[in-house]
Amino acid sequence: MQEARLSVRRCDALVIGCGVMGSSVSYNLASRGLRVVNVERFRVNHELGSSHGRTRIIRLAYYEDERYVPMLRRAFEAWREVERKSGAQLLRMTGGLMMGREEGELVGGVLRTARAHGLEHHVLSAREAEERFEAFTLSEEFVAVHEESAGMLFAEESVRAFVGLAREAGCDFVQSAQVTGWKAGPEGVEVEAGGERFLADRVVSCAGPWTGQLFPGVLPLKCERQVPLWFSSLGDGAFGPDRMPVFIMEEEPGRFFYGLPEVGHGVKVARTHEGDIVEPDRVNREVASEDTAPVEAFVARRLKKLGREPIASTTCLYSNTPDFNFAIGPHPKEGRVLVVSACSGHGFKFASVIGEIVSDMVTGKKNEFDVSWLGPERFNQKPNPG
Ligand SMILES: Cc1cc2nc3c(=O)[nH]c(=O)nc-3n(C[C@H](O)[C@H](O)[C@H](O)COP(=O)(O)OP(=O)(O)OC[C@H]3O[C@@H](n4cnc5c(N)ncnc54)[C@H](O)[C@@H]3O)c2cc1C
Repeated sequence: MQEARLSVRRCDALVIGCGVMGSSVSYNLASRGLRVVNVERFRVNHELGSSHGRTRIIRLAYYEDERYVPMLRRAFEAWREVERKSGAQLLRMTGGLMMGREEGELVGGVLRTARAHGLEHHVLSAREAEERFEAFTLSEEFVAVHEESAGMLFAEESVRAFVGLAREAGCDFVQSAQVTGWKAGPEGVEVEAGGERFLADRVVSCAGPWTGQLFPGVLPLKCERQVPLWFSSLGDGAFGPDRMPVFIMEEEPGRFFYGLPEVGHGVKVARTHEGDIVEPDRVNREVASEDTAPVEAFVARRLKKLGREPIASTTCLYSNTPDFNFAIGPHPKEGRVLVVSACSGHGFKFASVIGEIVSDMVTGKKNEFDVSWLGPERFNQKPNPG
């Protein structure tokens, strides 16, 4: 850390990063009366991280791990509360359709979770699913699980809503300021960013794909490039949110595609994972035919009434832990610094509840959710505090 003679700004909590996690944590902390500074390297809703774009899926029958279900129930409620307070529509319920072989990771996992938690769901044969949802073409051997408790979140509106509410609660946002170093001392954690020095009682890092740069060796994160695409519908309404649910399809074992209905910009379709592992500052932002071809072929097989060529694309980054579960908890060497990596490609929907959980950790309030299984220490890294 540079020893430049800069004036020091004191705060109760300094939040690094203003993606969906950092903005939610900032809102939650500020609304509890803490003096919060949020420091963002770029600007709100920039397109280089993980939270930009139009929409994200939210769902309840979580095939990944049923331990997420209690958090998800609260996440839905908390999103509704943020909607009420901000006046913005953030959530659009569409239902969700999970398709694949019954014994597969996706359908098998959804059924296991739905049964374990008594979640309402309907199992449809391939033909029944096609009749009910004309957007899709399924293989004969597939089944589809329909759950009502699924829909989409409007991504950039969500970040804007958190930022607006956090500002109203007194949070100070510093943009175009990169945190370049931190040092814990007896008076607090000193952080240097954008030519300023801050002294915070607590620091919460929500640095997304850049977490590894700030905390080398703390989390074994891999940053994965993703390319979602948008396709035009032919305008008969079959792909609108009233008739098309958000969906995930496990076409082959371990090979997942997902999509969301048209809300004015085309139908979003992408494959998940299978992307290049990259350095977050050296990402190829050009979208090439290697990126689009597998998704175009999927659309031709499974969403036959969509236009065959994408009308829009973007690049976006996943930060994957080795077990694809989130990492939320104290830095292994400095308890006043919390590290939040709620990505692994599925974190957005949790941002509303993770903001609450992290704020409980900061303020020492007992939280109703057991997140000990998500602690960063489970990876047993040798930290190299930076
Ligand atoms: C293509 C794609 C589709 C997805 N689909 C879904 C979905 O359908 N449902 C779902 O639930 N989840 C989904 N996700 C995952 C979800 O979007 C992420 O989990 C979530 O956006 C992570 O947010 P974040 O705030 O942790 O990271 P980010 O949004 O990347 O925010 C991190 C911020 O920290 C800032 N920062 C980093 N380093 C510094 C520093 N040194 N100083 C200051 N600022 C710094 C960055 O500039 C950035 O703004 C998807 C992700 C992608 C990429």
